[in-house]
Amino acid sequence: MNLLLLENNDFVGDDIVQIAGRRYEHIVNILKLSVGSELKTGVVNGPTGVSTIVDVGQKEIRLQVTLDDRSEPALPVTVLLALPRPKMLKRILQNCANLGLAKLYLINSYRVEKSYWQSPWLDEDAIRQQLLLGLEQAGTTTLPSVILRKRFKPFVEDELETIAADTERLVAQPGANTPAPIALNKPATLAIGPEGGFIPYEVDKLSERGFTPVSLGRRILKVETAITAILSRLYT
Ligand code: SAH
Repeated sequence: MNLLLLENNDFVGDDIVQIAGRRYEHIVNILKLSVGSELKTGVVNGPTGVSTIVDVGQKEIRLQVTLDDRSEPALPVTVLLALPRPKMLKRILQNCANLGLAKLYLINSYRVEKSYWQSPWLDEDAIRQQLLLGLEQAGTTTLPSVILRKRFKPFVEDELETIAADTERLVAQPGANTPAPIALNKPATLAIGPEGGFIPYEVDKLSERGFTPVSLGRRILKVETAITAILSRLYT
């Protein structure tokens, strides 16, 4: 936890918050902080600053908060990610928030198993919890929006044009002739396939919408590594 991330309902006074549960345990038992200690602090989708511990109880802690700084803004990126299997999903969501994505569409693809869509980890609150962990790690407050789209074809045909308007459109595809751009530093929409890869029909559909297949080198990367690799090439 590199930032104590606050929700509006943590406030019990204008500048006083009361924290229990996981964040309490972390501050008291892992960071071993006590009265007078300071912590970098931020409000979800809001400013950042510092808080000072004013009271440590058996189950909760109170801090006085000063919020006088802006959070690092999100990267101007929308990722279209074929829904990963549940075991990977949690980590990938954390990773996406950690890297600073603005928006993530979890989309269907031929090689996404139908059962993945039933995962309890897709509940709104479960997604939010993973994103918060990624932001705490990053030290930022801007929560990525996560949107689920269970049907590939209508998504690409009816929605994608608007989503990708005025952005660089790229699909990460092993073996593509074009290497992923370096230091693009402008808004992008990036499609990343499932573990089994996009099928040719899907790559064609994306190409019809102006997406260029790009490579990240000759090694086939895990999905979460591919996201990290492409973002670190595009944004410096
Ligand atoms: N089995 C698939 C690989 C899937 S890897 C195949 O052989 O094609 C999962 C996703 O990560 C891919 O769909 C792609 O979007 C991305 N990816 C992984 N390694 C990549 C690379 N070297 N270049 C571009 N994209 C890559």
